[in-house]
Amino acid sequence: MNAPLHSNITIDTYMTPLEHPEFAGHEQVVFATDEAAGLKAIIAVHNTNLGPALGGCRMWNYASTSEALTDVLRLSKGMTYKNALANLPLGGGKSVIIADARRDKTPELLRAFGRHINRLSGSYVTAEDVGISSDDMEIICTQTQFARGTEATGFGDPSPYTALGTFAGIKAAAKHKFGTDDLTGLTVSLKGLGHVGYDVARQLHKAGALLIVSDIYEPAVKRAVEELGATSVSTEEAHRVSADIFAPCALGGELNAETIPQLKATVVAGAANNQLETPEDGVALMKRGILYAPDYAINAGGVISIALGEPGTSDAIVRQKTLAIGDTLTQIFKRADAEKRPTSIIADELAEERFQHHHNPAV
Ligand code: NAD
Repeated sequence: MNAPLHSNITIDTYMTPLEHPEFAGHEQVVFATDEAAGLKAIIAVHNTNLGPALGGCRMWNYASTSEALTDVLRLSKGMTYKNALANLPLGGGKSVIIADARRDKTPELLRAFGRHINRLSGSYVTAEDVGISSDDMEIICTQTQFARGTEATGFGDPSPYTALGTFAGIKAAAKHKFGTDDLTGLTVSLKGLGHVGYDVARQLHKAGALLIVSDIYEPAVKRAVEELGATSVSTEEAHRVSADIFAPCALGGELNAETIPQLKATVVAGAANNQLETPEDGVALMKRGILYAPDYAINAGGVISIALGEPGTSDAIVRQKTLAIGDTLTQIFKRADAEKRPTSIIADELAEERFQHHHNPAV
């Protein structure tokens, strides 16, 4: 909305983060810039009841600051729920750097971001997400101890654990829906072949599933077709092709009023964050008889590896905790069936039971 200020000047009346519809009681929202380094970032700390707010940093070429703010607030709140549901002693937060990861990323920019993280004195701990690699985290770590996901702070790249947990979650969903977790001959449409998506695709292929793949990055699609015998479709078709399982592994908002009626798969289970555009979309999936594996439950493997993967921890323990994602999902599916309510709401309630009435005096 434009408000007249002067006869020939108008200014935008901005909504502040406090009035933002996704604000959801955030403890802190920090706008961080460094002109010399070209940094524009937002750091959001949603809740620290269970411990320091841990959540990745996403680098994305957002169309506007307000789009970035909406994304970071939703992702940050999601981390509170994800960390609580995964039974970790951690709160939830997230950060976004507003820039094109393939074009604008420089060591100066990453270092400037690290300095801003350091100023928060540990209420937020960062890690990698879309657009930020473990090499980038190594640079960020030169400026702050409050960064994880590097070789020095633990197991390095969390993506393989996210992929492992997602694969375990797909099997749990198949077992609940089709009565068997043998994926042989099942068709999975997988959208997004990045660090996580490609790894999930490999595991599905190994388990005998037939793959339909899509990505805006053509070389990844070509590789999946050549290496995994996948069939490629356009990114617009991914959700509406004939498949048993739809696995969103790209960005959020994949499940909405337009896409849900077009789904042919009866299971949606993938790694992407914030898959539901609105909470009502969880209800719409249930009404269509589609089993939805709540995103933050199925994709918690990465954060489990970051939280528990201290140097010296055995890989077997982290893998075991990650594979337990399948059991958590089965618990959610059964409770949703028994109460005839959406899996998304059941997952939220389980998480809220853990973090809402807890207070961590150390933070
Ligand atoms: P990534 O950047 O490695 O991969 C994302 C892929 O999606 C890229 O190949 C990109 O080209 C593709 N993509 C982007 N927009 C697309 C579109 N419209 N249609 C099709 N493909 C598109 O990221 P990642 O680490 O693999 O993460 C994938 C998803 O999983 C994200 O939503 C992320 O938040 C979530 N996630 C990742 C982790 C992790 O450990 N990396 C943990 C939890 C959740």
